[in-house]
Amino acid sequence: MEKLENRHISDSGLAKVRWVRRLALGMLLAAVPVALLLFRVSEIVRLPLFFLMIPYGFVCLSAVLCFALMPCPRCEKRFYAGAWGVNPVAKKCQHCGLDIHKDRH
Ligand SMILES: [Zn+2]
Repeated sequence: MEKLENRHISDSGLAKVRWVRRLALGMLLAAVPVALLLFRVSEIVRLPLFFLMIPYGFVCLSAVLCFALMPCPRCEKRFYAGAWGVNPVAKKCQHCGLDIHKDRH
């Protein structure tokens, strides 16, 4: 019974690990379209683009920090950060080797 509870926690933890990666990469990929959109807005409201990009920069930085510091559900060390830095395409925990799609098998 305890094993099933641990598996449930691990499964929701892996879903969270995947979600944080998608969020961080999505925020980074959206930076150029958001900058183009805010450039048009900056012309309308007559504010420098820099001031309009500050909130997006904070949100983007927060997402990237959450991604880099995301703990592994099994070993509780940073899932994507290993000895060589953060690996954004890692499919396994950089410390214990937990597969990111283990709950889908
Ligand atoms: Zn781990």
